[in-house]
Order: sequence, then C-alpha cells, then structure tokens
Amino acid sequence: MTLAFISHPDCALHDMGSSHPESPLRLAAIQKQVRLSGLEPLLEYVEAPLASREQLALAHTVEHIDFVFRSSPTQGMVDLDPDTTMNPHTLAAARRAAGAAILAVDRVMSGLNHAAFCSVRPPGHHAERHRAMGFCIFNNVAIGAAYALQKYSLQRVAIVDFDVHHGNGTENIFRHNPAVLLCSTFQSPLYPYSGTGPVADNIINVPLPAGTDGTTFRKAVTTTVLPALDTFAPELILFSAGFDGHRDDPLASLNLLEQDYHWITTEVRNLAQRHAKDRIISLLEGGYALPALASSVVAHLQALV
Ligand SMILES: [Zn+2]
Repeated sequence: MTLAFISHPDCALHDMGSSHPESPLRLAAIQKQVRLSGLEPLLEYVEAPLASREQLALAHTVEHIDFVFRSSPTQGMVDLDPDTTMNPHTLAAARRAAGAAILAVDRVMSGLNHAAFCSVRPPGHHAERHRAMGFCIFNNVAIGAAYALQKYSLQRVAIVDFDVHHGNGTENIFRHNPAVLLCSTFQSPLYPYSGTGPVADNIINVPLPAGTDGTTFRKAVTTTVLPALDTFAPELILFSAGFDGHRDDPLASLNLLEQDYHWITTEVRNLAQRHAKDRIISLLEGGYALPALASSVVAHLQALV
C-alpha cells in the first residue's frame, strides 16, 4: 500500500521574511530530496484541503480562531507573537496544514493508505488551545488527533513528538484527556521552557540535555516512550515530526542523525503494527538546516513506506 504525501502550494506562500528560519525553502528542500530518493513510486501525492472553523475548533477556542481570521492581512505583515507573523497567504497555509491532518486521518482510517506524511507549514505543536506561539498558528497534530477520536469513535490515540522543542501546545490541549497519550522528547532547557514538571498521567515528557547524541536518545526513548506506548495500546499513532534535533540544526544543540530518525520511526511503527493496524500519520514540525531536514525526512519516510 502507498503512503499518502499530503501538501499544498499555499503552504509555500506563507513567508515570515527572508531572515526567518521557518522558511518556504524547507518544503522545497524536502520535495527535492524525496524526488531524488527513489521513494516516489511508493508515495501518493495528495493536496491538503482547507480546514473549516468547526474542524479548527476541535483543538482551539472560537476566540483564537476568530482572532487569527480577523488578523489576516490583505497586504503587509501582522505579528501574532514575537516569532510568528502572518502575511496575506498565512491563513490559507495554516488552514491547509490543519486540513492535511484531517485528510490524513480520513485516508488512513478508511484504509486508502496505511500511513500519511503531511509536508506542511506553518507547524503546529506550540499552538495552545487559545493562542498562536513559536511559528505555530493552529495545532495540526492536535486537530488530527481530536478529529480521529470524534469522527471514528476511537478510544486511544497516541502522539509521539520528537521535535527538539517541547510540544507545549499539544500538552495544553490534551492534558487530563485520557483518550490521548502524548510522548514528547525535547532539549531542556530550551524554548518554550516547559515540560519539566509533572503534568498529568497521559503526558510523558522526556527532557534531554544539550549535546545528547543518538545513543542516549535511543536509550531514553526505549526506557520511557516505547513502554508507555505499548501499555497504552493506541488505535492510531501520530508523529509531531520535527527534525531540529539534528546535529546540524542552527536552533538547538542535540546531536541526532538521520539514522536516529529512521530508528524511532521504525520502533514506533512496530508498535503501530501491534496495536493500531499499522496506522501512522506524521506531520512536519521543525527542522531548519535544509540539507539535514530533507535527508532526515527521507529517512523517516523510508521507515514508514
Ligand atoms: Zn522545534
């Protein structure tokens, strides 16, 4: 069965300025490397739809959704937070990114594809229920998880967030929701400086010190994330797939490599095969060193196809 590769040209039109690391060039770099990888016969390219207000409200307050729609400029730029800016195309890009998560759930749950990768931006995992934050406007992975619970009456959905930054937004949306298990590995201390204290039984936070390499990362995942996933027995697994833990990334200081992303993807997929009928959905989060981002995504996809 093929893997759905979901994206949309609108996602490349969201642009926060030439000096901003969360740049449209990220998606182009991924696309180019995927083309070179030989994986294309195993992929099915699909365009992301626009998420509706009702779908966005699965994870966000109406006030936040209204604020984003109202803030959308017809020209120029508008700041939502110190790191997050809207241009005239941002609202469509953000709705496509969330819509990709919705479509991925529909395709995977209906058996059209066993897995899906959403090559979208803006990313989502810092966006909280009531606010945009840290390059993120709507929490794509949370919208996908909440949609899967509602539309397909699932009882247990797991989110594995291996972005180098803590998934504070996803935690904010799902803490104390026993239908969702969130496992987040991240460098600490680092933006957004959360995730270090106890939160709730359904949140597994794995802070890692600067300089952590693949060996230590794998040990931490093996002793915390994988057993928690196995016990939870999810019916669907979603990745918040950020590749900014790569050794070459300019925004953080972990020392992960392409093979570490392949490893965690394989380990989590084994659990998806055991518990979730091999259903996995991955959404792009961070990753700012373009060559490392592109080759890490390919390593991730190689373990998903
Ligand atoms: Zn990140």
